[in-house]
Amino acid sequence: MWQGVTITGFYDIVVVGGGVGGLALGCALAEKHHVLIIEARPGLVPSKRGLSLQANGLEALQKLDLLGRVTSIGLKTGHVACYEIDGSLLADLDYSILDHPHNYVLTLVPSELERVLRNEFSRRGGEIQESTSFKEVVLHHDSVRLRAQCNALSLEFSASIIVGADGENSRVRNGLRLPTKIRECPDHFLFMLAGPLDMLQEKARQYFGLGKMVGFFPVPEGTYIFYYLPAGRINDLRAEVLDRFKTELTNIMPEISDPLDSLISWDDIVYVAPKRVSVRHWVTDRAALLGDAVHALDPSWAQGANMTLQDALVLANTIDQCFQSGDFSVFRLKAYENARRKQTTFVQQQSDRTARLTTTENRFNYWLGKRIIRRTGRNKTLMRTALKASAGLSDRFSIREQLRFII
Ligand SMILES: Cc1cc2nc3c(=O)[nH]c(=O)nc-3n(C[C@H](O)[C@H](O)[C@H](O)COP(=O)(O)OP(=O)(O)OC[C@H]3O[C@@H](n4cnc5c(N)ncnc54)[C@H](O)[C@@H]3O)c2cc1C
Repeated sequence: MWQGVTITGFYDIVVVGGGVGGLALGCALAEKHHVLIIEARPGLVPSKRGLSLQANGLEALQKLDLLGRVTSIGLKTGHVACYEIDGSLLADLDYSILDHPHNYVLTLVPSELERVLRNEFSRRGGEIQESTSFKEVVLHHDSVRLRAQCNALSLEFSASIIVGADGENSRVRNGLRLPTKIRECPDHFLFMLAGPLDMLQEKARQYFGLGKMVGFFPVPEGTYIFYYLPAGRINDLRAEVLDRFKTELTNIMPEISDPLDSLISWDDIVYVAPKRVSVRHWVTDRAALLGDAVHALDPSWAQGANMTLQDALVLANTIDQCFQSGDFSVFRLKAYENARRKQTTFVQQQSDRTARLTTTENRFNYWLGKRIIRRTGRNKTLMRTALKASAGLSDRFSIREQLRFII
């Protein structure tokens, strides 16, 4: 169909993007269907950051029969202690009050999670085509064709259905011309992996100040640190010597001094300006999007990957039904979007709200954010409501609940 293109085989499903979402979807489908994942990167790239899995994501991994393996590459945290930057305690968030089998946070290095998912996807019979970038798609009434580039080679693939799991800047979304709103989140972050600090295994820590927020979470053999940076400050910070930044972290939590020795240069630290993505339709005939491609969000609730894992299970189930009925129409695929949209929109909105109140240079917002954290820490009912939502186990706050956080 395209000139000068090498035609490859026909697959049941082609998934564009071998991140957490594409791989989880592949694992859910590969035993029953012929699945190909196209991934732009040449292989697994070790991450310089951590990833927190919460009850909803852990439940999805259990359904994929992968929870045991994933648990072995992460560290469980039952408490997150929230402090003011001067060291006074605002709240001790206790996940054990959640009435759920996974009432904890599991923090790991995301490339290790991808390794587990990749191995399982291959074991279940799936294929990964690496160093291959999706370029364009054409939908036909009986199939979908897509063109991708692998080094100098232009490749054409055909399938019954295509899934865009290619992240916040999704090219599949653009190729399908799905109307999309993208905006930069107010929070910019630095992320890094320092050496281990045993005391964090009992309680992870998060510190808040006006225009400052920093988190310390344990990962196997290390400490995952995230640091909020008001927009536009990255160049000023990187112009300084790294030791000044390390001193700032040590002033906030003196115990982190030795673990920071493992950070040698600014190259050990990742800078991210997250985006919020909202897409009017997640599906069309013979095509669907999942994960960050449809609902990238502010990282303040640590929910992006968790919700992506949930998407993967629901979409796999819907795609199974498409194969059973031979119907890949937008009407059939809409069942997936209808099942997932409410929760993802709720979490996007609440993450934005949390960001406005906790990572802010505005005095009133900061005062209000502190008040909400303190009230949440003092009242078990409020804590349960807040943790249930931020752990992906609910999709709404009642008006009464919203008011109780403030007054
Ligand atoms: C710094 C940071 C911290 C975070 N912390 C957390 C957390 O603690 N908890 C949590 O739940 N979430 C967290 N998130 C969010 C989480 O990482 C994402 O929501 C999740 O990775 C989304 O998965 P995905 O598969 O949709 O997209 P991605 O992980 O972005 O994967 C997309 C894949 O598609 C590939 N790709 C892109 N374009 C093409 C193309 N044209 N052709 C072929 N392949 C392509 C990419 O190489 C990539 O492998 C964090 C995000 C960031 C940036």
